[in-house]
Amino acid sequence: SHYTKKDIMRLVEEEDVEFIRLQFTDLFGNLKNAAVTASQLEKVLDNRYVFDGSCVEGFLHDNDMDMFLCPDLDTLAIFPWRPQQGKVARLICDIQKRDGAPYEGDSRYILEKVLKDAEKLGYRFDVGPECEFFLFHTDDNGNPTVFSHEKAGYFDMSPIDQGENVRRDIILTLEEMGFEVESSYHEVASAQHEIDFRYDEALLSADNIMTFKLAVKTIAKRFGMHATFMPKPLAGVNGSSMHTNISLKKEGKNVFADENDEYGLSQEAYWFIGGLMKHARGLSAITNPLVNSYKRLFPAQTGAGFTAPAYISWSPINRSQMIRIPAQREENTRIELRSPDPSCNPYLTLAVCLAAGLDGIKNHIEPPKPVNEDVRKMTDAERTALGVEPLPRSLAEAVTALEEDELVRGVLGEELCKGYIAAKKQEWESYSAQVSQWETDQYLYRF
Ligand code: GLN
Ligand code: MG
Ligand code: MG
Ligand code: MG
Repeated sequence: SHYTKKDIMRLVEEEDVEFIRLQFTDLFGNLKNAAVTASQLEKVLDNRYVFDGSCVEGFLHDNDMDMFLCPDLDTLAIFPWRPQQGKVARLICDIQKRDGAPYEGDSRYILEKVLKDAEKLGYRFDVGPECEFFLFHTDDNGNPTVFSHEKAGYFDMSPIDQGENVRRDIILTLEEMGFEVESSYHEVASAQHEIDFRYDEALLSADNIMTFKLAVKTIAKRFGMHATFMPKPLAGVNGSSMHTNISLKKEGKNVFADENDEYGLSQEAYWFIGGLMKHARGLSAITNPLVNSYKRLFPAQTGAGFTAPAYISWSPINRSQMIRIPAQREENTRIELRSPDPSCNPYLTLAVCLAAGLDGIKNHIEPPKPVNEDVRKMTDAERTALGVEPLPRSLAEAVTALEEDELVRGVLGEELCKGYIAAKKQEWESYSAQVSQWETDQYLYRF
């Protein structure tokens, strides 16, 4: 790491930090933390913060659940929204077992493993996420609603756009925390927004996504609003995506670029696309982990003008596809995967997506021909003729696809994967047992 323990001790002293939050992310993408005061820091930096792993959702259950939080020193950041005397800082942690070995169920470690594997081939992954979210009002009791007065659409300006001041404070906060924010705007749906920050090395980007979501929610709350990354909070309007832009470097050079190719893409880029497409169905339960995720990816609604993908296809231009190649070339050549949504665990999502792409490179998986027409407007027969398969239509289908994908299961590890699958099956069953408003509206009078 760039920082030493001494540096951290000095920074904490100089910055008047009183509390340090030791953070990690559970299997389902929830940010967790324990706070220590500055007086405990030296002990913590020697990797001696112990906690009970058996209380964490999705963690492997074993007799010995005493675990250790091991701060990654490069992740020190101060929360700008907390008091500026006796400040609050955070350190993102890896998790170790009693014997000092990394804990296999730690999603950050799962991503680190895939990145090590890539490093052996001389590769470094850069990832640039684009997270969308909604800003809703809270009710008189402070509970979140799905209501907003706002009627703005894509790229609208204030006063139609009522999220301007919230976005401004979010961006200033992120910049104070070291983010380079590249772009921000009102998205397509009323009350929907997007803020894009600069791409970075994959592990940093996953950390950044977690920090981003925390900052967005925290700042929104200051305005009395509720920010949500739920993939499809409202039927009939756009859902929220987490487009994931991926590029690959070898010896500092972008290896997805080839100026002599008709689309400006290298052989590695084609193989990477091939790997992503081969495993697309198996990735879904990780990249789109909720019952609700599949309401966003649903083709009938995407056909109504939403741009969320429903089929496994790629195109150097058309946006209705699962994979698109943004216009920039040469050093900025990248692959945009459009299926993930921001409710995912970003560590697991990047781990499985990068592993799928690497599988493509290692096994020379050629992608099918690009499809430059809107696949959603085709008939089933036309899609079949082009070899275009659907993405899973439900969490249940996605879980089955995960069970059938050995590579994706392997990234998670069999044991952890079993637990993940069991939890997702349970989620699906619980949902399936409900009687919804739609059902009573449709059936109660008629039958
Ligand atoms: N909200 C759209 C989706 O769900 C994406 C819209 C966009 O960024 N072009 O995928
Ligand atoms: Mg975007
Ligand atoms: Mg967008
Ligand atoms: Mg995009």
